Amino acid sequence: MRAYRVIVPGQARLVDVDRPSPGPGEVLLRVAATGVCHSDVFIRKALPVFRMPLPVTLGHEVVGEIAATGPGVTRWEAGQLAAAYVLRGCGVCAPCQRGHDNLCHAGYRGLGTHFDGGMADYVAVRADAIADAAGLDPVAAAPLTDAGLTALHAVNSIDRPGATLKRIVVIGVGGLGHLAVQVVAHRFDAEIVAVDRDPERLELARKLGARHSVRSDGSEAAAIRDLAGGREIDAVLDFVGSDSTLRVAAEVTNRGAQVVVAGLGGGSLPFEAKSVSTFFPEVSLRRVSAGTRQELAEVLDLGRAGAVHAETVTYPLERAGAAIDDVAAGTVIGRAVIVP
Ligand code: NAD
Ligand code: ZN
Repeated sequence: MRAYRVIVPGQARLVDVDRPSPGPGEVLLRVAATGVCHSDVFIRKALPVFRMPLPVTLGHEVVGEIAATGPGVTRWEAGQLAAAYVLRGCGVCAPCQRGHDNLCHAGYRGLGTHFDGGMADYVAVRADAIADAAGLDPVAAAPLTDAGLTALHAVNSIDRPGATLKRIVVIGVGGLGHLAVQVVAHRFDAEIVAVDRDPERLELARKLGARHSVRSDGSEAAAIRDLAGGREIDAVLDFVGSDSTLRVAAEVTNRGAQVVVAGLGGGSLPFEAKSVSTFFPEVSLRRVSAGTRQELAEVLDLGRAGAVHAETVTYPLERAGAAIDDVAAGTVIGRAVIVP
């Protein structure tokens, strides 16, 4: 079968490999669709910090039909459509026992990063780490498994004890952000303020439920304060995570606001413990990582209900490298999805 693999850091290509056979507790998926994440740009470089075993097949947003089940698998059978959970925790620590592999005490490993992913004709995955994708279009469902999962988890991280949130800022309307706008619109009555560099993505954000859109050109913090009548922002979801977006979050949030950072843009901002500091008092800051197994099922349900829909551009498996290049260049609106 074909697989798009990282051979050495920064060098990936489509190669012929043996079709995996499902081991004990595993299922073999015939891949129907695999989303391309901005993270794939960095995973393909196999940065030392990822400690990746090479070669490894890329692709961590996978939906496929079960082609075969391994020994001991009783809950699933051939022919079912399944979505893979992106993480693999140790399975024994308390968070893993609750399905929170994203909090695994031993540190989780990732599909398409530490073990073979879905940019291939087939992939073997653990049967306890798949969710039922029946009734979903595989191309639209694949981005839900990581972009949608992380967006939902970011939104679920906002807590609102008794208070109604009036205004929520979503920074970065890419693969994750365009799904987050929809989850926020579905969950909150709040006004959504979308922020991006690209007018086309801002237009998409408005179509998906954002009330306001702000072009990030260096003056976005002032523009947000203008439209909000000051720092009337209750939450910021940052899907970029650069110096400038963290700074915007600090400059628009009110007392008691919540900032959730999902983007891995390498940004930093000093945390100042003094009376007049970067963030207003009582602002909470949270960095999120993917989501839980329960949230995977939850986001697929949102997809089935039509509350969340991924905008997609499809590529054949032969063009997996080009798809990642396009995501790196920022020319894909929504999510690139590889269909083998
Ligand atoms: P993407 O390329 O699809 O989207 C990025 C969006 O951000 C684009 O719309 C782009 O125009 C916009 N943007 C870039 N710089 C900006 C700026 N300074 N101000 C405003 N907008 C800006 O990427 P994606 O796949 O949605 O991933 C987004 C980020 O989330 C990446 O850093 C990725 O690595 C990370 N990620 C994190 C997790 C997690 O578990 N925390 C999971 C998946 C992806
Ligand atoms: Zn990802």
